[in-house]
Amino acid sequence: MKKKRRSQRIALLLVIAILLSLFVAIAMVMTMSGCSSREIVGLPEDSGGKTVTSPAGMTGETEVSAIRSSPPSSSSPPTSTLNTPKPTLSKTSKTLRTTTAATSRQTESRSRASYGPPVMKAPGAVALTFDDGPGQYTGELLDALKEYGVKATFFVQGRFAEQYPGLIRRMHQERHGIGNHTYSHRFLSETDEATRRSQLARTSDAIERITGVRPRLMRPPGGYRNGAVFREAGRQGMAAVFWDIDTADWKYKDSQYVYHYLLNHTAAGKIILMHDTHKTTVDGFIRALPVLLDHGFTFVTVDELVELRPGEVYPLRWR
Ligand SMILES: [Zn+2]
Repeated sequence: MKKKRRSQRIALLLVIAILLSLFVAIAMVMTMSGCSSREIVGLPEDSGGKTVTSPAGMTGETEVSAIRSSPPSSSSPPTSTLNTPKPTLSKTSKTLRTTTAATSRQTESRSRASYGPPVMKAPGAVALTFDDGPGQYTGELLDALKEYGVKATFFVQGRFAEQYPGLIRRMHQERHGIGNHTYSHRFLSETDEATRRSQLARTSDAIERITGVRPRLMRPPGGYRNGAVFREAGRQGMAAVFWDIDTADWKYKDSQYVYHYLLNHTAAGKIILMHDTHKTTVDGFIRALPVLLDHGFTFVTVDELVELRPGEVYPLRWR
């Protein structure tokens, strides 16, 4: 009897031991799968935040998009950046992201083509760009550009093109670049498809009515962008152009600031962002222009700086 009870006890212990080890094994498997799934989720989010905020040090229009994109980056676990080597992480996730994005796109061949390096036509020159106008100070700006024989690119709003057709005509006659900046400064990645389409089309229509030429470049207001924005721009025959140097002129509204900023930051091969809707910008720029010319800078339109096809994005880091 004693023997039987002992063997029963041993059997019971064995069963408990097996159950315990099974439980431990299951727990281990669950923890492991939990980790990996968190990493997979964390990767694109992490890189997503980084990609958007990476045109860093940029305030102004970028700032808005950086703020808007902060929720995804903050929701990704901060530990993931500590545990793992950062560069590898973002690289891998970017590859993942671009691969999935590219395959899901209908315009696959165009997207692939757009991922090639851009052809710089005037690498030593600078492209001055003015957004949001035309406005009441644009005439004065055009006078100064004419005086110094300098070409710039204007990303205009359709509603103001309609309001100031004379200024648009003059830009065209004086061989400045004219780009599409939507009809009423809508953040294109935040709108529905129909709005996105009409905001761009109405503006291109307005520019074409005045100049006889449809714009081939567009700049998304606020820097708000995604694949849908680029695809719509491409469908309408335009490349998306952002900037390298953001003066943040709209923020400081100080001509002295604009003047100094331009003298300190203008660099060859770069696209500079300003807004001709502010008097302080126009004043500061007009003072800086002869100094920059004295320093040997040459200025071209975006079109002359880099060769871009519809659907392409420039500079590349904004993709
Ligand atoms: Zn704008």
